[in-house]
Amino acid sequence: MGHEFLGVVEDLGADLSGLKRGDVVVAPFMWADNTCDFCAEGLPPPRHGGQWGVHAVDGGQGETVRVPQAQGTLVKLPVGEDSALLPSLLTLSDVFCTGHHCAVTAGVGPRTSVIGDR
Ligand SMILES: [Zn+2]
Repeated sequence: MGHEFLGVVEDLGADLSGLKRGDVVVAPFMWADNTCDFCAEGLPPPRHGGQWGVHAVDGGQGETVRVPQAQGTLVKLPVGEDSALLPSLLTLSDVFCTGHHCAVTAGVGPRTSVIGDR
């Protein structure tokens, strides 16, 4: 879809825990260690991370992606690789999170109307 992606773990580094081959995972819009003070505060860009597709880091448009800081970056999804939910789950990589962040920071609530300009 873009530089964000979801996919199936094909191989992993020796230090990685919590994931195994065959797991379906989603990657957010930036890769990160998810252990430092910036990550704890949710501040992009992460201190030990970055964007996909720049500075010799793969992007999600390829058939395979080497994920730096995979332990902190990838989120395991509770579905199989043939799940009908995959198109909807892809929105967790960026679109859904961006929309949620915008709604929260704009103070959108149950009695608020929001209009887009697209
Ligand atoms: Zn971090």
